[in-house]
Amino acid sequence: MIGGGVAGLSLALILARRGHKVILYEQDYPGCSATGRSAGIIVTIFEDRLLKLALETLDFYMSLPGAVEIVKAKKALYLNKSGVCISKLLKIHELNRIAIPDDVDPDLGVDFDYGKDYYAVIRTYLTDAGWTINTLYSEFLRLGGTIIEGPVERKGDKFYHSGNRIEGKIVIAAGPWTRQLLPEIEDSTIIYRCQAASVEGPTPRMIIEDDSLEYYLVPTSDSRFVIGDGGNPVIKDPIEGFNPDPEETYGVLERYAKRVPEAWESRVVQMWAAPCITTGDSIPMAGKVFDNVYVLTGFDGAGISLAPAVARLLADEIEGRGKVPNEFSRLERRVYGVVEPYVINC
Ligand SMILES: Cc1cc2nc3c(=O)[nH]c(=O)nc-3n(C[C@H](O)[C@H](O)[C@H](O)COP(=O)(O)OP(=O)(O)OC[C@H]3O[C@@H](n4cnc5c(N)ncnc54)[C@H](O)[C@@H]3O)c2cc1C
Repeated sequence: MIGGGVAGLSLALILARRGHKVILYEQDYPGCSATGRSAGIIVTIFEDRLLKLALETLDFYMSLPGAVEIVKAKKALYLNKSGVCISKLLKIHELNRIAIPDDVDPDLGVDFDYGKDYYAVIRTYLTDAGWTINTLYSEFLRLGGTIIEGPVERKGDKFYHSGNRIEGKIVIAAGPWTRQLLPEIEDSTIIYRCQAASVEGPTPRMIIEDDSLEYYLVPTSDSRFVIGDGGNPVIKDPIEGFNPDPEETYGVLERYAKRVPEAWESRVVQMWAAPCITTGDSIPMAGKVFDNVYVLTGFDGAGISLAPAVARLLADEIEGRGKVPNEFSRLERRVYGVVEPYVINC
């Protein structure tokens, strides 16, 4: 396994649970990039197939020791973007038995002006990024897995660590760096900076996923919340993705203030960023690239939500028990240049 983010760690653990000998190579330390900086939302704003994968991911996290104390069901206020059909989303939630009954009062804890936007209160789930990484990592080690530090390099069709050739089946789950190890996927992917900030100010009691103004907000205490951006600048080198841009953070606050004007009185406590990678159609990428070499990447802003379930699909393929469905395994995707994730069309 190359890469110790949520994708690599999950697949490493799944294969170790199935009795395989797995070595995970991590260039720095597990969770050092997007995974360790994520807000931990297990997103449920998906069409049916991806929602099923998000719910499988939830089951996977719940199978980890200590999960009941950490991974929780939460309410989220979802504000839609044109083209996204709320009634269809609610129907999908109903079919998957996660719908919130109609009589739920969206008591947000702030005077939230919905304006004319169409909104819904939906169920979502929240994990803690640090707990997720530590638990995946320690479970993997407990089952006999090995973690080796330092970058893997490619020469021709072979992969090397500290000059030693890596044998066996190889999975590249190196997030945005996957493009450097697999130029084969360069034309089908985009890398961009994903940014968030911790803010002190008017804090709603619910998660807000506001697709119309492109921000999300996760309350972390009565007076603090994490706020993140839905629209993200494209970058060339993953390293550029670690530099947060204060203007972007204030831009996100400005958008939140369109809903809650007193948000202007907020104080930014900390901001952070990490590089993310997406495919042309925003659907994750998993499957065989060439003999004994597989890829697991392209999780966009939803790797915490989807990576373990897609990793399970790939584990089945590696074991010869199945084949990753075509929508994930296609290496060729059309890149539009702008990330447009998981739109549910009416
Ligand atoms: C601010 C922020 C908030 C987010 N919030 C959410 C959220 O609420 N919900 C959600 O579902 N998703 C969220 N995301 C997205 C999510 O974090 C990513 O989709 C996910 O972490 C990607 O995981 P990954 O394992 O594919 O990649 P990464 O986490 O990027 O992991 C790749 C790993 O590979 C290693 N690596 C790279 N090259 C090599 C090499 N040559 N040799 C060895 N190792 C290598 C890297 O060091 C890294 O550790 C957020 C992201 C950010 C940045």
